[in-house]
Amino acid sequence: MIQAILRKCKRCGRYTLRKDRCPYCGGEVVNPHPPKYSPDDRYFVYRLLTKIFSGELKLPEDVKNKLLEKIYGSREKTAEEVTQSQTSSSTS
Ligand SMILES: [Zn+2]
Repeated sequence: MIQAILRKCKRCGRYTLRKDRCPYCGGEVVNPHPPKYSPDDRYFVYRLLTKIFSGELKLPEDVKNKLLEKIYGSREKTAEEVTQSQTSSSTS
């Protein structure tokens, strides 16, 4: 679940994928979406994506990319992987 991946720093308020502490300021990180927010909400990911792309939820680029990788990575290749496979096949 995405809720289990994303953490928010209590000190600086940044989002991170780290589970132990904030990579930016070293502060304590917490789950920004408590379990009472229906953990089996299948539309959570879509609402999250909407917030990210609308700019409502401001994530650092690296966090955003890793998050998108985790959401889409298991189903389809990332653009980078597609480019790499195309490059390698054309050279052979
Ligand atoms: Zn922080």
